[in-house]
Amino acid sequence: MSQHILTAVAWPYANGPRHIGHVSGFGVPSDIFSRYQRMAGNKVLMVSGTDEHGTPIQVQADKEGVTARELADRYNRVIAEDLTALGLSYDLFTRTTTRNHYAVVQEIFKGLYDNGYIFPRTTMGAISPSTGRTLPDRYIEGTCPICGYDGARGDQCDNCGNQLDPVDLINPKSRINGETPVFVETEHFMLDLPAFAGALGSYLQSKQGEWRPNVLKFALNLLDDLQPRAISRDLDWGVPIPLDGWRDRPDKKLYVWFDAVVGYLSASVEWAKRSGDPDAWRQWWQNPDARGYYFMGKDNIVFHAEIWPAMLLGYNGQGSRDGSPGSLGALDLPSEVVSSEFLTMEGRKFSSSRQVVIYVRDFLSRYDADALRYYIAVAGPETQDTDFTWSEFVNRNNGELVAAWGNLVNRSISMAAKNFGEIPEPGELTDADRALLERSRAAFGPVGAELGRSRFKNAITEAFDVVREANKYLAEQEPWKLKGDPERQKSILHVALQVVDDAKTLLTPFLPTSSNKIYAMLGGEGVWSGMPEIREVDEEGGARYPVITGDYTGAATWEHRPIRPGTPLAPPTPLFPKLDPKVVDDELARLGG
Ligand SMILES: [Zn+2]
Repeated sequence: MSQHILTAVAWPYANGPRHIGHVSGFGVPSDIFSRYQRMAGNKVLMVSGTDEHGTPIQVQADKEGVTARELADRYNRVIAEDLTALGLSYDLFTRTTTRNHYAVVQEIFKGLYDNGYIFPRTTMGAISPSTGRTLPDRYIEGTCPICGYDGARGDQCDNCGNQLDPVDLINPKSRINGETPVFVETEHFMLDLPAFAGALGSYLQSKQGEWRPNVLKFALNLLDDLQPRAISRDLDWGVPIPLDGWRDRPDKKLYVWFDAVVGYLSASVEWAKRSGDPDAWRQWWQNPDARGYYFMGKDNIVFHAEIWPAMLLGYNGQGSRDGSPGSLGALDLPSEVVSSEFLTMEGRKFSSSRQVVIYVRDFLSRYDADALRYYIAVAGPETQDTDFTWSEFVNRNNGELVAAWGNLVNRSISMAAKNFGEIPEPGELTDADRALLERSRAAFGPVGAELGRSRFKNAITEAFDVVREANKYLAEQEPWKLKGDPERQKSILHVALQVVDDAKTLLTPFLPTSSNKIYAMLGGEGVWSGMPEIREVDEEGGARYPVITGDYTGAATWEHRPIRPGTPLAPPTPLFPKLDPKVVDDELARLGG
């Protein structure tokens, strides 16, 4: 039965280009999952976009002497282009600075507010004594009260990563003129997380045995200490607070995390509008049979397993104070939170400032997207922190992609093309022939089951077992020695080509570009697995912006398909370039200390 599957992918922050650690956590895994689900016949809606509000964008914009909007415009485009080049099949990849996003965020705020789950609280805010004006959090610097780092900002310490309040900084100073700010009473809005302790507890308990155990354990632990959480900030770059007396204030906006998590919903709504059926999003959000899968790195579990479910419960009127659903109607909570661990780079943490980094764009200027996707699937941080090393990348590329898979495709097709010019008709099959055909047919069940559970490493390992079996078969059957027995040679090559075709299908979610090439080499017509593209759009005459979208209704289905004898074959070109081991030294020389 066809199911509606929402693939909700973490929103990359638009303060700079993204590196391969980022895309190994949220990007590639969510695309493998979505491509598999589409092939399995499900209706996938894969959404995300760039997260463009908040202090770090403003700080970076100040540093570069541009406006926050200009900075966000620049990196929104860079990131959209990079994710497209990686082949990530978003139905819509948009951004948080659209009118649509503002409207949906404000609707969620109002629903929570009307149900009594948002309340004002007086806190201490900074003002500049010389001007009397509010001093936004990012303009205050001081010593972190938690780790002692002396360059902490008013809202966050970049050293220990904790969120801070400016009033807690030791020895606070204005970054504008060095004066000591004065703290006066100011009002902010809080999300009443303790009101969801019961509802969140039942929700999380119902996920036992379904979620990755580390994610569930982390989320359950958070329940022990639920505190009201500030959702507004002294900040000028963000979504306005939709209440009278607040809407037009330049110094108060919604906190960036509050608006960013609503993005999954707002992007679904935007996608529906662009599809011509403005209510289409409801099939993924208000449907008891739909499932929502959220992909992210482990630093974001708190927002997806605790805060976003709490916001949805509150909007639906399902916290301790009850209430009724807002005007959109009751919304579905995440079915599964699929969190990745962290990737390190040659044993060190990624760091743009120390140049311990490789950006997606630089990577793809020298290597193929499928080579990176393969590495992430087979050696990425799926269930534990893992280290990216250039030597492992080159070894896996040359030993697995080129020598095992690429070589199987190449020698099977080129031998058949050279000797017969077409896919040969098989004669009587031997036990060895039948065993291999059965082996590759039988792989669809277990590989699909692993993909459906987001166990990507197991899935690609099992798919590659088929490739290894096929190489072993060719080595044993030695069709190249059978010049005098063309009938037997035809049978062997027919079997090899059928298994190449099956393996190409099994590997499509991981390696869409090369699978599309193999599909064409074996005589396939039309598109096998659709690829994303960038389109320029606007909102009724507003500013234009790029989105990622695509038509993913290709021929690819998750099943064995018999090849057709007589299909003409041409000698193939190599699928994957072999890498010179010297690139390891070149790449290491590019890394900073
Ligand atoms: Zn700190």
